[in-house]
This record gives sequence, structure tokens and C-alpha cells, in this order.
Amino acid sequence: TDGAQLPILVIGSGYGGAVAALRLASAGQQVAIVEKGMSWSAPGSDGKIFCNMLNPDGRSFWLRTKTSQPVSYFMGAPYDKTIPSYTGVLDAEQFSQIRIYQGRGVGGGSLVNGGMAVTPKQQYFGSILPSVDPAEMYNTYYPRANANLKVNNVDQTWFESASCYQFARVGRKTAQASGFTTTFVPNVYDFNYMKQELANTAPRSALNAEVIYGNNYGKNSLDKTYLAAAVATGKVTITPQHVVTKVAPAAGTGYTVTMNQIDTSGNTVATKTVTAQKVFFAAGSVGTSKLLVTQKATGALPNLPSSVGTGWGNNGNVMVARQNQAWDATGSLQATIPVMGIDNWADSGGRAFAEISPFPAGIETFASLYLAITDNPNRATFSYNSGTGGVDLNWQQAWNGAGITAAKRIFDPINAKQATIYRTDLFGLYKTWGDDFAYHPLGGCVLNQSTDNYGRLQSYPGLYVIDGSLIPGNTTVNPFVTITALAERNIENIIANDFK
Ligand code: FAD
Repeated sequence: TDGAQLPILVIGSGYGGAVAALRLASAGQQVAIVEKGMSWSAPGSDGKIFCNMLNPDGRSFWLRTKTSQPVSYFMGAPYDKTIPSYTGVLDAEQFSQIRIYQGRGVGGGSLVNGGMAVTPKQQYFGSILPSVDPAEMYNTYYPRANANLKVNNVDQTWFESASCYQFARVGRKTAQASGFTTTFVPNVYDFNYMKQELANTAPRSALNAEVIYGNNYGKNSLDKTYLAAAVATGKVTITPQHVVTKVAPAAGTGYTVTMNQIDTSGNTVATKTVTAQKVFFAAGSVGTSKLLVTQKATGALPNLPSSVGTGWGNNGNVMVARQNQAWDATGSLQATIPVMGIDNWADSGGRAFAEISPFPAGIETFASLYLAITDNPNRATFSYNSGTGGVDLNWQQAWNGAGITAAKRIFDPINAKQATIYRTDLFGLYKTWGDDFAYHPLGGCVLNQSTDNYGRLQSYPGLYVIDGSLIPGNTTVNPFVTITALAERNIENIIANDFK
């Protein structure tokens, strides 16, 4: 409420915010979380909380009148659809040369993501977070994150015959035929639940084309794990539909935080100011970076370091699809939850880890779709635009050439061996690469550069960053387990030293 005096305010309810809230509350602290998106707990008129990928409605996208689907073409024709503007769960945030997909709601990205819960190989950890001791991460914080996120593995015997994973088996077979290593990938989606879906003994979610607009069943998103545990302490409140716009030192101690309460059309219905002794920025790589560069440029937090806004990367994301031979059908029923990756990170000529992605079109397409995570070295900068009052990101689409080069080292040989071709009808007309969007924004307030080695914004005691913006642009695999484990490490140090 307006005028409230709070000990701790957490901005955003994704991985970083959820970890901070649970650990602070467990240490006896009272925590208020504010979240821009909705709570996603009430069903719509169809009895479901979320819509699926085949029939997107207003619930799908954040304040858009037309969907902005990652695979936005089929047979070379655009198939985005007109929808009512609503504070939906997936934001396709458009910067000048890249569109960044992010979750909006209580649970952040966990609501919309594919649940792939991948711990990077320890041998590469030095390239991910060079200032962090790998031993403590692999002995303590990665295991803690995996346990609390409820990470599980597909039953490999079931996988081999499940019709909904034919696409993954074809992806594996064609990769292995060219000598590539494939690996099963853990997930937070409950694979026992998925077995029941396939057996028709439980309502379908992964088997009903549900994922990027939310899963009605099966997925252990943060609202079912960390956030549920945080609320169960009795010390955490979560206030949805509040957008933080300003953070500045308060007259006495602490910080005044200004926020707009919004309705489901995105209109501001009230503006509130609270005072908090400690503030955790957990608005995600894009959200936190935008807030911080704005506070610095507008004079609310002028002493933030000039490195704030820098070091942003897209985890090397590029997407591509191949057209398989007629004997390699990928299946008309595809689980939306990926379980396999092609690991070519050891290739120093172009490192890539390609997830074998579902393409749940509801019909046989013979297509294999991949999301490649590559070692793209390019980094971009967020900057405040005084003309628009917004924040720009200077990422160039051409910078994805590095990612495409790395991905081609996997898919060119597969195509050669299989005598197959790339699909050129899914990301535009005659366009092979999905190189104008990202699922994995990382960086913008890099650990041990813009903050100390635990996320403290040192020029402002009591301000912390605890989300994906701390990670300098790449995690070699899908990022949320690393974001969670780093948050676990940092909050432990912060509680031990700053809450005496
Ligand atoms: P987020 O989870 O983005 O949380 C930030 C929260 O802050 C959001 O809820 C946001 O609404 C809120 N917020 C933002 N600004 C404000 C503000 N001003 N005021 C109040 N609240 C604010 N990663 C994987 O590891 N595996 C996957 O399989 C995977 N699949 C993905 C699929 C999709 C479609 C997408 C979009 C992402 C996927 N990711 C995946 C990426 C993963 O979801 C993100 O890396 C992760 O959610 C980032 O965590 P975070 O804590 O940094 O921020």
C-alpha cells in the first residue's frame, strides 16, 4: 500500500526474486515482492488458466494486438493472429534489432519456459562466471538449486517408445549418424505426470501444445516450488500488477520505490510510493538493466557505476529447422517439453549446444526444429533514451552471424549425411535462421563489475541485484539453473553479512 515502510522489497518474482524471498524469509525477515505481471491463479471462461500454442488468445501475449510467435511463418506464410490486448504471460519485447521473449507474472520466466534444467559442465564454468569459485557452486549451490526446483529426468525406457518423443528420437538419430554427441536433458516438468497424459489418465498439458503461453498442468514452475515455500513461511507477500519505475535514496535511511499499479489493459490505476530499507532488483536481465540505467541517467541513483547496462548477451540463441526424409516422420503428437540436446560445445571452431525442440503443429511436418545455444562473443549495451524516456539496446542482428556459424557446424554435416535441407519457410519467406529473437537474455549488471562479487550495488548500501543480469551473456546451456544457483550463493553471503 502507498506509504508503506518495508524492511525488504523484492522487484520481480522470477528465479532470482523467488530465491531471495525464500531465503530471507527463512532467516526470519519480512519480505514484500512486487511483480509487474498477473498472478495466473484464476481460470478463464474456458476453465483454464493458460491458452495453448495452437489457439492463442489475450492470455498469450503481454499487451499486443497480434501474436508475435517465435516460429511466425509456416509454408512461407505469416500465421500470427489478432488477439485482444491484455497483460498476457509472454512478452515479446522489441528492441531495434532483437525481440526478447520474457515471462510476465508471478513466477517470471518459469511460467512460459520449456523447463529445461541444465547444469553446465564444470569444465566450462570459468567462462560463465569467472569470479565465482566452481567448487562451491558444484558442491553446494547447483545441487541446492536442482533440489528446490524439483528437477527430474525422463524415464529413458518410456522415452524410447513414447509417440510424443518421436521428434526427439529422430533428432538424436540424425545427429548421431553424423558423429555428434546427444545428451538427455533434465527438466522441471513432472515426467510421471506426462506418462499419465500419454496414457490418457490425466488432463493434457505438454501433450496439448501448452508451453510458451503457460502450462495448465505438469510443470513445476516457481509458483509451485520456491514461491510456494516462501509464502508458506508466513513472512512473504506477493503483489502482482505493480510496475516499479523509480528507486531513489529516502530522506532518512533506505530507499523510496515508486510503482504503478496497472489493470489488465496495462493502464495505470494508481501510483504508489513505499520506503524499503533493502531493495533486491530481480526484474530479469532486461527489466533490471532498464531500471538501473534509467535511475542512473535520470539522477535517481547517479552514483551507479558506468558499467551498468553493459555486458548483455543472448546466450548465443539462434533457431533453425531441417526437413527430414519421408521415412523420418517426427510425429503429429509432440510433447512441448524438450528432453534432448546435441552437445558440440567441445568444438573450438564454433561451440554450440542445440536443443532438439518440439514443433507441436498438431500435424505431421517432417520438420526437426532446434534452438541452438552458441558461444557468440558479441555483447550489447542498454542506454537511456532521453527523447523517448525508454531504454534502448544496441544489439545488431548481424552479430548473430557468429551463432549461425557455430550452429552450421552441427546442421550442415547432418544435412549432408541425410541428404536433407534447411526449412526456409518458418522464420520468414525464404529465411533459414531465426536470428532476430532470443529466449535467454543475460547480463546488463554483471557480477564483480557493476556489483561486488555477491550482487551488492556498492555505491548504494542496501541495494542488490539477484537475477540473470549478473551473468555476463552466456551460460553454455539453458540458463535458469545457473541463475538460481548463483542467487542461492549470493543470498547466503548477503544474509550472513548484511543482516547481523
Ligand atoms: P525472470 O524470470 O524474467 O523474472 C523477472 C520478473 O520481473 C518477471 O516476472 C517480470 O514480469 C518482473 N518485472 C520486470 N520488470 C519489472 C518491474 N519494473 N516491476 C516489477 N516487476 C518487474 N531457460 C532455461 O534454463 N530452460 C528453458 O527451457 C528455458 N526456456 C525458455 C522458453 C521461453 C519461451 C523463454 C521466454 C525463456 C526460456 N528460458 C529457459 C529462459 C529463462 O526463463 C530465463 O532465463 C529466466 O526466467 C530468467 O530469470 P530471472 O530471475 O533473471 O528473471
